[in-house]
Amino acid sequence: MSSTLPLNSEASPLMPVTDSETQTSTEIKFDNVSVHYYSVPSWLGGKAFKALQNIDLNVEDKSLAIVGRSGAGKSTLIELLFGLKAPTVGQINLFGYSLPIRDSKAQATVCRLIQLVPQEPHTSLNPYYTVRQILAEPLSNLDVSGNHEAIIEEALSDVGLPASLLLLKPNQLSTGQAQRVAIARALVVRPAVLVADEPTASLDPVNRQRLLDLVNSLKKKRDMRLILVTHDLGAAKALCEEILVLDHGEMVEHGPTNQVMSKPAHPATQMLIESQPLSKSTC
Ligand code: ADP
Ligand code: MG
Repeated sequence: MSSTLPLNSEASPLMPVTDSETQTSTEIKFDNVSVHYYSVPSWLGGKAFKALQNIDLNVEDKSLAIVGRSGAGKSTLIELLFGLKAPTVGQINLFGYSLPIRDSKAQATVCRLIQLVPQEPHTSLNPYYTVRQILAEPLSNLDVSGNHEAIIEEALSDVGLPASLLLLKPNQLSTGQAQRVAIARALVVRPAVLVADEPTASLDPVNRQRLLDLVNSLKKKRDMRLILVTHDLGAAKALCEEILVLDHGEMVEHGPTNQVMSKPAHPATQMLIESQPLSKSTC
């Protein structure tokens, strides 16, 4: 694990504190987190829709797959990590910082440690920017030191794209190239954790396998962990040691991927495995 930040679940929003007793790094911690939505305000008698319920989770030094059918709460969980939503109940701690982080230096620190590859890369790339500008933006926003041009070229090469693409704009890229640019954009700040939302969702089998190989090699080369949101249990097995199954906002199963997939204990997990078209050969 490349993170060097000390961690403590009781850390203040501004100052991470070393956990001197255990010296372990509880890097991503959810304490009894729930997210409720109201279509009618609660003070008018509206009932809460529970998108996430009582999530207790420690993600330490392993890669984690978050799986579940549509509406299970996967995206909500990811949005919490990036501060795009706030928990209705509970507390989230990232790398020793309690969310929400208000201090801009601490925000930049955490932002460098955890980066997102969104589900639809084409729409997440600024259409007016060249690939070079897209890759340069996080480096200047987060005040990263070093030779930005060299960092950009290394990231592009690590995702298997030629430097000639630097001059192109997103509408000149194929879907596969746009996805790799989105991965490179996440890589330039050297995150400790890469979060990928359904990266294999729209890929044909050949490109899916290429992407799995690429992400596996990036994890090793860059000493990076993965949080993978996916319906693709084969991808979960290929990339993540741990798996978490969400169903109706509840964490119904969590454990080593091989164990959960070979002996699924919860009906939601069993249903997911049975619904995979190639479950016998890929899972
Ligand atoms: P998943 O990513 O697993 O498909 P989501 O996290 O997107 O699921 O959504 C979980 C549930 O919360 C879904 O039923 C969804 O309709 C609901 N939901 C998500 N965002 C909102 C919102 N802003 N208002 C009301 N309901 C929402
Ligand atoms: Mg989703």
